[in-house]
Amino acid sequence: SNAPQGEASGNIWVCVRVRPWDGKGASRSLSVNETQPIISLLSEDKTKGHKRQSKFQYNHVFDEGSSNRDVYEQVGVAALTQVLDGYNSTIFAYGQTGSGKTHTMLGSDAQPGVIPLLGQALFKEIQAKQTPKQSREGGGTTRDQAEYRVTVSYLEVYQEQVLDLLEPGKQPLRLREHPSLGVFADGLAEVRVATADDVAQLLLQGSAVRKVASTDMNDRSSRSHAVFMMRVQQRHVSRTRGEGEGGREKESVSTMSARLYLVDLAGSESVRKTKATGQTLKQGASINRSLFELGNVINALSSGTKRHVNYRNSALTMLLRDSLGGNARTAVVATVSAAPVHAPETRTTLMFASRANTI
Ligand code: ADP
Ligand code: MG
Repeated sequence: SNAPQGEASGNIWVCVRVRPWDGKGASRSLSVNETQPIISLLSEDKTKGHKRQSKFQYNHVFDEGSSNRDVYEQVGVAALTQVLDGYNSTIFAYGQTGSGKTHTMLGSDAQPGVIPLLGQALFKEIQAKQTPKQSREGGGTTRDQAEYRVTVSYLEVYQEQVLDLLEPGKQPLRLREHPSLGVFADGLAEVRVATADDVAQLLLQGSAVRKVASTDMNDRSSRSHAVFMMRVQQRHVSRTRGEGEGGREKESVSTMSARLYLVDLAGSESVRKTKATGQTLKQGASINRSLFELGNVINALSSGTKRHVNYRNSALTMLLRDSLGGNARTAVVATVSAAPVHAPETRTTLMFASRANTI
Protein backbone atom coordinates (compact mmCIF):
# COMPACT_ATOMS: atom_id res chain seq x y z
CA SER A 1 0.00 0.00 0.00
CA ASN A 2 1.08 3.56 -0.57
CA ALA A 3 -0.52 4.89 2.58
CA PRO A 4 1.93 5.91 5.29
CA GLN A 5 2.28 3.15 7.85
CA GLY A 6 2.44 4.04 11.50
CA GLU A 7 1.65 7.12 13.53
CA ALA A 8 3.16 8.97 16.44
CA SER A 9 2.70 7.12 19.71
CA GLY A 10 2.70 8.17 23.34
CA ASN A 11 5.72 6.84 25.14
CA ILE A 12 7.79 5.52 22.25
CA TRP A 13 9.28 8.14 20.01
CA VAL A 14 10.65 6.78 16.74
CA CYS A 15 12.91 8.32 14.17
CA VAL A 16 14.89 7.01 11.21
CA ARG A 17 18.34 8.17 10.17
CA VAL A 18 19.65 7.53 6.67
CA ARG A 19 23.43 7.20 6.53
CA PRO A 20 25.37 8.87 3.71
CA TRP A 21 25.95 6.71 0.68
CA ASP A 22 28.25 7.37 -2.25
CA GLY A 23 26.20 5.70 -4.94
CA LYS A 24 28.34 7.17 -7.75
CA GLY A 25 25.25 8.12 -9.74
CA ALA A 26 23.27 4.98 -8.96
CA SER A 27 19.78 5.70 -7.70
CA ARG A 28 18.91 5.27 -4.07
CA SER A 29 16.37 2.79 -2.78
CA LEU A 30 15.13 5.43 -0.35
CA SER A 31 13.71 8.87 -0.71
CA VAL A 32 13.05 11.22 2.16
CA ASN A 33 10.27 13.77 2.10
CA GLU A 34 11.75 17.16 2.96
CA THR A 35 8.72 18.52 4.75
CA GLN A 36 7.12 15.44 6.30
CA PRO A 37 8.70 12.64 8.34
CA ILE A 38 8.06 10.13 5.56
CA ILE A 39 10.42 7.66 3.90
CA SER A 40 9.67 5.86 0.64
CA LEU A 41 11.47 2.64 -0.10
CA LEU A 42 11.78 0.87 -3.43
CA SER A 43 12.44 -2.81 -2.87
CA GLU A 44 11.90 -6.07 -4.66
CA ASP A 45 9.01 -8.30 -3.76
CA LYS A 46 10.68 -11.71 -3.98
CA THR A 47 7.44 -13.65 -4.04
CA LYS A 48 5.86 -11.58 -6.80
CA GLY A 49 9.09 -10.76 -8.64
CA HIS A 50 8.46 -7.05 -9.08
CA LYS A 51 9.51 -3.79 -7.46
CA ARG A 52 7.31 -2.25 -4.83
CA GLN A 53 7.17 1.18 -3.32
CA SER A 54 6.40 1.44 0.40
CA LYS A 55 5.91 4.56 2.47
CA PHE A 56 6.58 4.84 6.18
CA GLN A 57 5.91 7.68 8.59
CA TYR A 58 7.72 8.36 11.86
CA ASN A 59 8.05 11.08 14.44
CA HIS A 60 11.10 12.33 12.61
CA VAL A 61 13.33 11.43 9.67
CA PHE A 62 17.01 12.42 9.32
CA ASP A 63 18.33 12.47 5.78
CA GLU A 64 21.86 11.73 4.60
CA GLY A 65 23.00 15.27 5.38
CA SER A 66 22.05 15.12 9.04
CA SER A 67 24.64 15.47 11.78
CA ASN A 68 24.94 13.80 15.17
CA ARG A 69 24.00 17.13 16.71
CA ASP A 70 20.75 17.13 14.69
CA VAL A 71 19.91 13.74 16.16
CA TYR A 72 20.89 14.94 19.63
CA GLU A 73 18.61 17.97 19.35
CA GLN A 74 15.60 15.77 18.56
CA VAL A 75 16.32 12.76 20.75
CA GLY A 76 18.83 13.71 23.43
CA VAL A 77 17.32 16.96 24.68
CA ALA A 78 13.98 15.30 25.46
CA ALA A 79 15.69 12.38 27.23
CA LEU A 80 17.73 14.77 29.35
CA THR A 81 14.67 16.80 30.34
CA GLN A 82 12.93 13.58 31.32
CA VAL A 83 15.82 12.41 33.50
CA LEU A 84 16.23 15.79 35.18
CA ASP A 85 12.49 15.61 35.97
CA GLY A 86 13.18 12.32 37.77
CA TYR A 87 11.93 9.83 35.16
CA ASN A 88 13.88 7.04 33.51
CA SER A 89 14.58 7.28 29.82
CA THR A 90 16.09 5.03 27.17
CA ILE A 91 17.43 5.66 23.68
CA PHE A 92 18.03 2.71 21.36
CA ALA A 93 20.01 2.69 18.15
CA TYR A 94 18.55 -0.08 15.97
CA GLY A 95 19.66 -1.16 12.51
CA GLN A 96 21.79 -3.49 10.45
CA THR A 97 25.54 -3.61 10.93
CA GLY A 98 27.21 -0.72 9.15
CA SER A 99 24.12 1.50 9.09
CA GLY A 100 25.44 4.02 11.64
CA LYS A 101 24.34 2.95 15.14
CA THR A 102 27.75 3.43 16.76
CA HIS A 103 28.36 6.60 14.74
CA THR A 104 25.10 8.01 16.10
CA MET A 105 25.58 7.02 19.75
CA LEU A 106 29.36 7.32 20.21
CA GLY A 107 30.47 9.31 17.19
CA SER A 108 34.03 10.47 16.73
CA ASP A 109 36.25 13.34 17.87
CA ALA A 110 35.14 15.33 14.84
CA GLN A 111 31.48 14.47 15.32
CA PRO A 112 30.64 13.50 18.91
CA GLY A 113 27.61 11.24 19.19
CA VAL A 114 24.46 11.43 21.26
CA ILE A 115 26.14 10.06 24.42
CA PRO A 116 29.00 12.60 24.69
CA LEU A 117 26.63 15.42 23.68
CA LEU A 118 24.27 14.35 26.45
CA GLY A 119 27.16 14.38 28.90
CA GLN A 120 28.01 17.94 27.90
CA ALA A 121 24.42 19.16 28.19
CA LEU A 122 23.89 17.40 31.51
CA PHE A 123 26.86 19.07 33.20
CA LYS A 124 26.04 22.44 31.69
CA GLU A 125 22.57 22.12 33.19
CA ILE A 126 23.95 20.97 36.55
CA GLN A 127 26.37 23.88 36.70
CA ALA A 128 23.56 26.33 36.10
CA LYS A 129 21.28 24.76 38.71
CA GLN A 130 23.90 24.17 41.41
CA THR A 131 24.42 27.83 42.11
CA PRO A 132 22.43 28.63 45.29
CA LYS A 133 19.56 31.00 44.73
CA GLN A 134 18.27 33.46 47.28
CA SER A 135 14.89 35.12 47.10
CA ARG A 136 12.82 37.33 49.38
CA GLU A 137 9.10 36.95 49.44
CA GLY A 138 6.30 37.20 51.97
CA GLY A 139 8.56 38.82 54.55
CA GLY A 140 11.07 35.94 54.62
CA THR A 141 14.22 34.84 52.86
CA THR A 142 14.42 31.57 50.94
CA ARG A 143 17.64 29.93 49.95
CA ASP A 144 17.45 27.10 47.39
CA GLN A 145 20.28 24.76 46.72
CA ALA A 146 20.53 21.72 44.45
CA GLU A 147 23.10 18.96 44.69
CA TYR A 148 23.73 16.41 41.99
CA ARG A 149 25.40 13.04 41.94
CA VAL A 150 26.00 11.46 38.54
CA THR A 151 27.36 7.98 38.00
CA VAL A 152 28.22 6.08 34.85
CA SER A 153 28.06 2.35 34.17
CA TYR A 154 28.83 0.62 30.90
CA LEU A 155 27.98 -2.96 30.15
CA GLU A 156 27.57 -5.34 27.28
CA VAL A 157 24.97 -8.05 26.76
CA TYR A 158 26.58 -10.79 24.72
CA GLN A 159 25.01 -14.22 24.30
CA GLU A 160 22.69 -13.39 27.19
CA GLN A 161 25.60 -12.66 29.50
CA VAL A 162 25.97 -9.28 31.18
CA LEU A 163 29.60 -8.11 31.11
CA ASP A 164 31.04 -5.04 32.79
CA LEU A 165 32.93 -2.92 30.25
CA LEU A 166 34.40 -0.64 32.93
CA GLU A 167 35.83 -3.54 34.94
CA PRO A 168 36.59 -6.16 32.29
CA GLY A 169 37.71 -9.59 33.35
CA LYS A 170 35.06 -9.93 36.02
CA GLN A 171 32.63 -12.84 35.87
CA PRO A 172 29.35 -12.18 34.04
CA LEU A 173 26.98 -10.23 36.28
CA ARG A 174 23.72 -11.56 37.63
CA LEU A 175 20.54 -9.57 37.23
CA ARG A 176 18.70 -9.15 40.50
CA GLU A 177 15.61 -7.40 41.71
CA HIS A 178 15.42 -4.99 44.60
CA PRO A 179 11.97 -4.24 46.05
CA SER A 180 12.35 -0.48 45.75
CA LEU A 181 15.35 0.07 43.48
CA GLY A 182 14.15 -2.31 40.78
CA VAL A 183 16.28 -4.49 38.52
CA PHE A 184 20.04 -4.13 38.72
CA ALA A 185 23.16 -5.95 37.52
CA ASP A 186 24.82 -7.21 40.68
CA GLY A 187 28.40 -5.98 41.01
CA LEU A 188 28.26 -3.56 38.08
CA ALA A 189 30.78 -0.74 38.47
CA GLU A 190 29.19 2.66 38.97
CA VAL A 191 31.75 5.40 38.57
CA ARG A 192 31.01 8.84 39.90
CA VAL A 193 31.59 11.55 37.30
CA ALA A 194 32.00 15.29 37.80
CA THR A 195 32.46 16.58 34.27
CA ALA A 196 31.45 15.87 30.66
CA ASP A 197 35.07 14.86 30.04
CA ASP A 198 34.72 12.11 32.67
CA VAL A 199 31.70 10.79 30.77
CA ALA A 200 33.52 10.85 27.41
CA GLN A 201 36.56 9.19 28.97
CA LEU A 202 34.56 6.26 30.42
CA LEU A 203 32.70 5.87 27.14
CA LEU A 204 36.00 5.59 25.27
CA GLN A 205 37.48 3.25 27.86
CA GLY A 206 34.55 0.82 27.77
CA SER A 207 34.21 0.97 23.99
CA ALA A 208 37.89 0.08 23.63
CA VAL A 209 37.32 -3.04 25.75
CA ARG A 210 34.46 -4.01 23.47
CA LYS A 211 36.60 -3.54 20.37
CA VAL A 212 39.49 -5.63 21.63
CA ALA A 213 37.15 -8.46 22.56
CA SER A 214 35.54 -8.38 19.12
CA THR A 215 38.71 -9.16 17.16
CA ASP A 216 39.01 -12.70 18.50
CA MET A 217 35.33 -13.38 18.93
CA ASN A 218 33.76 -13.51 15.50
CA ASP A 219 32.50 -9.96 15.07
CA ARG A 220 31.24 -9.79 18.57
CA SER A 221 30.55 -6.06 18.52
CA SER A 222 27.82 -6.52 15.91
CA ARG A 223 26.22 -9.28 17.98
CA SER A 224 26.32 -7.64 21.37
CA HIS A 225 24.30 -4.83 22.89
CA ALA A 226 26.29 -2.01 24.47
CA VAL A 227 24.41 -0.33 27.30
CA PHE A 228 25.75 2.97 28.64
CA MET A 229 23.98 4.17 31.77
CA MET A 230 24.00 7.53 33.50
CA ARG A 231 22.27 7.72 36.86
CA VAL A 232 21.33 11.21 37.98
CA GLN A 233 20.54 11.73 41.64
CA GLN A 234 19.34 15.12 42.86
CA ARG A 235 18.83 16.64 46.26
CA HIS A 236 17.07 19.96 46.56
CA VAL A 237 17.26 21.83 49.83
CA SER A 238 15.12 24.87 50.45
CA ARG A 239 15.62 26.93 53.63
CA THR A 240 13.24 29.69 54.54
CA ARG A 241 13.95 32.14 57.37
CA GLY A 242 11.16 34.31 58.66
CA GLU A 243 11.36 38.06 59.23
CA GLY A 244 13.02 39.48 62.37
CA GLU A 245 15.53 38.25 64.94
CA GLY A 246 13.44 35.38 66.24
CA GLY A 247 12.61 34.12 62.74
CA ARG A 248 12.61 30.34 62.63
CA GLU A 249 14.25 28.50 59.81
CA LYS A 250 12.19 25.98 57.89
CA GLU A 251 13.92 23.40 55.78
CA SER A 252 12.46 21.21 53.09
CA VAL A 253 14.38 18.53 51.25
CA SER A 254 13.36 16.63 48.13
CA THR A 255 15.30 13.95 46.31
CA MET A 256 15.04 12.38 42.86
CA SER A 257 16.87 9.63 41.06
CA ALA A 258 16.55 8.54 37.44
CA ARG A 259 18.44 6.39 35.00
CA LEU A 260 19.26 7.19 31.42
CA TYR A 261 20.07 4.18 29.25
CA LEU A 262 21.83 4.68 25.93
CA VAL A 263 21.82 1.47 23.96
CA ASP A 264 23.82 0.57 20.85
CA LEU A 265 21.97 -2.60 19.84
CA ALA A 266 23.31 -5.68 18.09
CA GLY A 267 22.99 -5.65 14.30
CA SER A 268 19.38 -6.21 13.31
CA GLU A 269 20.35 -8.49 10.42
CA SER A 270 20.22 -11.30 12.94
CA VAL A 271 16.44 -10.98 13.09
CA ARG A 272 16.09 -10.97 9.33
CA LYS A 273 14.06 -14.14 9.22
CA THR A 274 11.51 -12.96 11.75
CA LYS A 275 8.33 -11.19 10.90
CA ALA A 276 8.94 -7.77 12.37
CA THR A 277 5.33 -6.82 11.74
CA GLY A 278 3.65 -9.90 13.19
CA GLN A 279 1.75 -9.76 16.46
CA THR A 280 4.32 -11.90 18.17
CA LEU A 281 7.70 -12.55 16.69
CA LYS A 282 8.54 -16.18 16.19
CA GLN A 283 12.01 -16.97 17.38
CA GLY A 284 14.31 -18.69 14.91
CA ALA A 285 17.23 -20.92 15.72
CA SER A 286 20.19 -18.54 15.67
CA ILE A 287 18.48 -15.29 16.57
CA ASN A 288 19.83 -12.92 19.16
CA ARG A 289 17.43 -13.54 21.99
CA SER A 290 17.66 -10.11 23.62
CA LEU A 291 17.04 -8.30 20.33
CA PHE A 292 14.13 -10.58 19.57
CA GLU A 293 12.55 -10.06 22.99
CA LEU A 294 13.14 -6.32 22.85
CA GLY A 295 11.12 -6.29 19.61
CA ASN A 296 8.29 -8.09 21.37
CA VAL A 297 8.37 -5.72 24.34
CA ILE A 298 8.43 -2.63 22.13
CA ASN A 299 5.59 -4.01 20.01
CA ALA A 300 3.53 -4.75 23.09
CA LEU A 301 4.18 -1.30 24.55
CA SER A 302 3.40 0.51 21.31
CA SER A 303 0.14 -1.37 20.88
CA GLY A 304 -0.81 -0.64 24.48
CA THR A 305 -1.22 -4.28 25.50
CA LYS A 306 0.70 -3.96 28.73
CA ARG A 307 -0.36 -7.29 30.20
CA HIS A 308 1.44 -9.14 27.42
CA VAL A 309 4.75 -7.48 28.13
CA ASN A 310 7.14 -10.12 29.39
CA TYR A 311 10.48 -8.71 30.41
CA ARG A 312 11.87 -11.92 31.86
CA ASN A 313 12.62 -13.68 28.59
CA SER A 314 15.96 -11.98 27.91
CA ALA A 315 18.80 -10.26 29.73
CA LEU A 316 18.35 -6.95 27.91
CA THR A 317 14.61 -6.56 28.49
CA MET A 318 15.01 -7.61 32.14
CA LEU A 319 17.82 -5.11 32.68
CA LEU A 320 15.77 -2.31 31.10
CA ARG A 321 12.46 -3.34 32.66
CA ASP A 322 12.10 -0.24 34.82
CA SER A 323 13.06 2.07 31.97
CA LEU A 324 10.56 0.80 29.40
CA GLY A 325 6.88 1.60 29.65
CA GLY A 326 5.17 3.29 32.57
CA ASN A 327 6.43 6.83 33.07
CA ALA A 328 9.67 6.12 31.23
CA ARG A 329 10.32 7.66 27.85
CA THR A 330 11.69 5.43 25.12
CA ALA A 331 13.18 6.64 21.85
CA VAL A 332 14.26 4.48 18.94
CA VAL A 333 16.73 5.74 16.35
CA ALA A 334 16.50 3.32 13.44
CA THR A 335 19.52 3.60 11.15
CA VAL A 336 19.33 2.61 7.47
CA SER A 337 21.31 2.73 4.26
CA ALA A 338 20.05 4.09 0.93
CA ALA A 339 22.03 1.53 -1.08
CA PRO A 340 19.74 -0.71 -3.16
CA VAL A 341 21.82 -3.75 -2.17
CA HIS A 342 20.63 -3.24 1.41
CA ALA A 343 16.97 -2.67 0.50
CA PRO A 344 15.66 -5.95 1.99
CA GLU A 345 17.43 -5.23 5.32
CA THR A 346 16.33 -1.61 5.18
CA ARG A 347 12.75 -2.71 4.68
CA THR A 348 12.93 -4.93 7.76
CA THR A 349 14.34 -2.07 9.83
CA LEU A 350 11.72 0.41 8.58
CA MET A 351 8.94 -2.06 9.39
CA PHE A 352 10.32 -2.66 12.87
CA ALA A 353 10.48 1.08 13.47
CA SER A 354 7.03 1.59 11.98
CA ARG A 355 5.56 -1.05 14.24
CA ALA A 356 7.23 0.53 17.28
CA ASN A 357 5.67 3.83 16.25
CA THR A 358 2.07 2.59 16.09
CA ILE A 359 -0.42 2.76 18.93
P1 ADP B 1 27.02 0.19 13.03
O1 ADP B 1 27.43 0.59 14.40
O2 ADP B 1 25.55 0.34 12.79
O3 ADP B 1 27.51 -1.17 12.63
P2 ADP B 1 28.82 2.31 12.26
O4 ADP B 1 28.28 3.42 13.08
O5 ADP B 1 30.06 1.64 12.76
O6 ADP B 1 27.68 1.20 12.00
O7 ADP B 1 29.02 2.86 10.78
C1 ADP B 1 29.78 2.18 9.81
C2 ADP B 1 30.71 3.19 9.13
O8 ADP B 1 29.99 4.20 8.47
C3 ADP B 1 31.62 3.89 10.13
O9 ADP B 1 32.88 4.10 9.53
C4 ADP B 1 30.92 5.20 10.35
O10 ADP B 1 31.82 6.22 10.72
C5 ADP B 1 30.27 5.48 9.02
N1 ADP B 1 28.99 6.19 9.20
C6 ADP B 1 27.83 5.67 9.60
N2 ADP B 1 26.85 6.58 9.65
C7 ADP B 1 27.40 7.75 9.29
C8 ADP B 1 26.92 9.09 9.14
N3 ADP B 1 25.62 9.41 9.40
N4 ADP B 1 27.79 10.04 8.75
C9 ADP B 1 29.08 9.73 8.49
N5 ADP B 1 29.61 8.49 8.60
C10 ADP B 1 28.78 7.51 9.00
MG1 MG C 1 28.47 -0.57 15.80
